[in-house]
Parts: sequence; structure tokens; C-alpha cells
Amino acid sequence: MRADVAVVGAGMAGVSVAYELAAGHTVLLLERESQPAYHTTGRSAAMFLESYGSPDVRRLTAESRAVLERTGTLQAPRPMLWVAPPAQMPRLEAMAAAQPALARVTAAEHYSALRPGWCAGALLETGAREIDVLGLHQHYLGGARRRGAEVRTNAVVSAGKFDGERWELATSAGPVTATSVVNAAGAWADEVAVALGVPPVGLRPLRRTAAVARCEGVDRAWPIVADVGETFYFRPEGAGVLVSPADETPSEPCDARPAELDVALAIDRVNEATTLGLRSVQTAWAGLRTFAPDREPVVGADPAAPRLFWLAGQGGFGIQAAPALGRLAAATVTGSEEPAPAVSVARFR
Ligand SMILES: Cc1cc2nc3c(=O)[nH]c(=O)nc-3n(C[C@H](O)[C@H](O)[C@H](O)COP(=O)(O)OP(=O)(O)OC[C@H]3O[C@@H](n4cnc5c(N)ncnc54)[C@H](O)[C@@H]3O)c2cc1C
Repeated sequence: MRADVAVVGAGMAGVSVAYELAAGHTVLLLERESQPAYHTTGRSAAMFLESYGSPDVRRLTAESRAVLERTGTLQAPRPMLWVAPPAQMPRLEAMAAAQPALARVTAAEHYSALRPGWCAGALLETGAREIDVLGLHQHYLGGARRRGAEVRTNAVVSAGKFDGERWELATSAGPVTATSVVNAAGAWADEVAVALGVPPVGLRPLRRTAAVARCEGVDRAWPIVADVGETFYFRPEGAGVLVSPADETPSEPCDARPAELDVALAIDRVNEATTLGLRSVQTAWAGLRTFAPDREPVVGADPAAPRLFWLAGQGGFGIQAAPALGRLAAATVTGSEEPAPAVSVARFR
């Protein structure tokens, strides 16, 4: 197999950059699983939150909004209610100071099931939305194919070297020759780097658990509610409530599974803050949110190897910021743009 660009990984990162590059290049998308969105991309909470993450992450998220609107993948408004018990008030004040667009509100006016006396302060992001994650993934994957990209599933990239002009990759689907390689392998991105003979950047896959709990009287119009200390969040999901303990358990790259204890923790924390009285769970899952040591994305040309590019470290924002990150990563491959130093892979070299 031969292409201008080989993209490793067909999660949201890989399909977004493949779509952008396929406009002017031959692209080969290599995915180890038989199903492209099997890992973290298929396991998210599907939220678009412009108030989440570092200033750079918030900028990339805001830049993505127009594409999400245009592709019809932003769903009905789901306001984000950040709440703080008394011990988290300093953090809420810091968030309010850093993000003046957030409205200071009385939590009970926006969500009636908070336990009386639990909440000491609240901030509201009115523009938050749910994302049709598989719709967005399909927009990029189908669009890349229509632009001529070839997609190979069951194709594990296990080794590679640059012969002075191009990359020769060993994959379980056969050898691949490509002028450039994009490492979009999610939790495995450091392993892929090592397989290609370059040092890892220190990515940390952290397991996060989510579950849908049965709940009486769910109102589809409820906001998503999270504490600013990031120990839980919940939002309506069908006739139930999606809950998470906002866990960050270090993990090897793997097919992540939920631990019963983390599911129980999510239920306990939501019950402590609310009068929902959650007791039983319909379904639970876990995924790996993979972060660089500084929690910023890892994008662009790697100074440690010729024609090797990164799109990794998307932590908890890899869906909402995918349009801007995919466009930026593709622009680094074509040489039309440099990433900001704070998000460039060069900061680790
Ligand atoms: C519980 C949870 C809630 C979340 N909520 C949100 C949210 O509300 N909003 C948001 O924006 N983000 C959220 N996220 C984060 C988001 O899901 C991720 O940032 C995003 O999915 C990362 O995409 P990715 O393509 O980098 O990784 P992945 O989807 O994991 O894709 C990487 C791909 O690379 C493939 N691969 C690995 N190694 C190789 C190899 N050697 N050869 C070939 N292929 C390989 C893998 O099989 C995989 O398919 C959440 C995550 C979790 C777990």
C-alpha cells in the first residue's frame, strides 16, 4: 500500500485529519480495530462546553463551533451548570474571574433537584450543547472516503522507519509506504512513536467511567451539572441520567472497562448533591482520556523525525475541538501553518 500520508488511528482525531488532507493528497487511514470509533471516541459524554479546559483548549473548542453547526452535529441546547459546595468556592471564584462570559446564577433556578444547602455558588454556560459524536465521526470518515482516502481496518502499525525519502511502515495488513505519517493513535500514540523509532512525549491514558442510572421524573430540559472541583457530573440521557465520578485512573493503553467501585462512586456523589435518589444502573462504560503532562494537545511536526506529525493528547476535549484540531494538524502536514508553541509537539523535544 502506498499513499502521500498514512494516518495511524481512525478515532475522531484520525478521521478529522484524514478528511482535511484528502482534499489534496492520497491518504491511507490505518486502524487496528475492525470498527473505527471503537475506543475513546465511541465512549464520550458527547458534550460541547466552551467553558472546559485551558485557554488554548477553549479557543480550539470555540473555533470548532461553526463546523459543528454546519454539519448539523450540534444537538439541542443543554446548558452547563457549574456548581460548588462551600469548600469549592475559591475554585468557582477563579473560574468566574477567568471566564467573564459565564453567568453567575442561583443554581436552584436552573436545576431544582440540588439538595437544599449543598450548593454555595453556581455558574451557567448557556451555549453548551450535546454533540452527535457518531454523526461527526461519520461526517469525517465518509467525507474522507468520498475524497478518495483509503481506510484499512484490522491494520495494526507495529514498526516503521524513514529511509531518507519516505516512511516504510510494517502493519498487520501488509507493508505501507508513505511520504508522511500522522500519529493519531489516542492512548497508544506514545507506543506508536516508539515503534517508529522516536521518543514518547509522556502521554498518560486516564480511565474515566460513565453510567446511565434509572431515574424517576427526568426532565429532558435539565442542564448538565458538574461540580467545579470535578468529582462528578450528570445530565439527562433518555429516560435516565448519565452520571460520572469524573475519575482519572492511570491505565495502560487498553480496551477500558468500568470498575464497579467507580460506578458506585458516581451514584453516591450525585445522590449526595441532589435529591434524585439514584439506585440502579442500566449500563456502564469506561474510556481512556489521554493527556500530555501539561494537559494541552500535542500537534504538528515532530523535530525528532522527518515527516512525522502528531495529533494526540486530546484528553476530555477531543470531540468538541476535533474540527479545529483536525484542520490545524492537516495544515502542519502541508506546511501552511505552525501550531502555537503551547500545543506543538516540539515543546517536548
Ligand atoms: C467517559 C468519557 C467522556 C468524555 N466526554 C467528552 C465530551 O463530553 N466532549 C469531548 O469533546 N470529549 C470527551 N471525551 C474525550 C474524547 O472522547 C477523546 O478526546 C477523543 O475521543 C479522542 O479521540 P482519538 O481519536 O484521539 O482517540 P481514539 O478514539 O481512542 O482513537 C485512537 C485510535 O487509534 C487506534 N490505534 C491505536 N494504536 C494503533 C496502531 N498501532 N495501529 C493502528 N491503529 C491504532 C485505536 O484502535 C483507536 O481507534 C470523553 C472521554 C471519555 C472516556
